[in-house]
Amino acid sequence: MGEKKVLSMKNIVPLFIELLAGPKKMSELLNVIPNYMTIKSYVSELEKEGYVKTEEKFEGRKVIYVELTERGKVVAEALKKADWLANLPPEQIERFAQMKAFIHINSYEDHVTLKEVHLGQSRIVNVFVRPKGDTIYFYCDYDDSDDCEHVELMFADIELSDYLRGWLQKNGYHLAKKYQKYVDKYW
Ligand SMILES: [Zn+2]
Repeated sequence: MGEKKVLSMKNIVPLFIELLAGPKKMSELLNVIPNYMTIKSYVSELEKEGYVKTEEKFEGRKVIYVELTERGKVVAEALKKADWLANLPPEQIERFAQMKAFIHINSYEDHVTLKEVHLGQSRIVNVFVRPKGDTIYFYCDYDDSDDCEHVELMFADIELSDYLRGWLQKNGYHLAKKYQKYVDKYW
């Protein structure tokens, strides 16, 4: 069926949000999709695309549990935050599904670690703060660059901005001119 189609299936948003609460028995998903055959086919498609995993347990009889994968959680969190999305046409939801998600993992003295999730792939990216004299430059170890989408995120993300502002308050550091475009755009 393919990833894009899966995310534009009817009632897929409430299904994701329901699963965000934790693993559910397949039968509990009848709350969201009132047809067991439809649920089974949805779960099977979602599992194929890596959004959920299933586990069979024997509780007197065979029970199938459905749980979001890490990738599924990223999508579900985003869908929940933007519940307006539930009312968008499928094409828009498809576009949303292709967006990159960034998760701020940790901040260190001289760098931050991000996890980037995009179309089921995830990678770790480190963005370093590299002062030259009193001027701050960045270095992204994934792009081997001092100006990329991860550097832009340092200005766009609230937590990362706080980290960066901490640097700017230290010893009168200032930003290299090339980053002024991000200050103008986000701050
Ligand atoms: Zn980068």
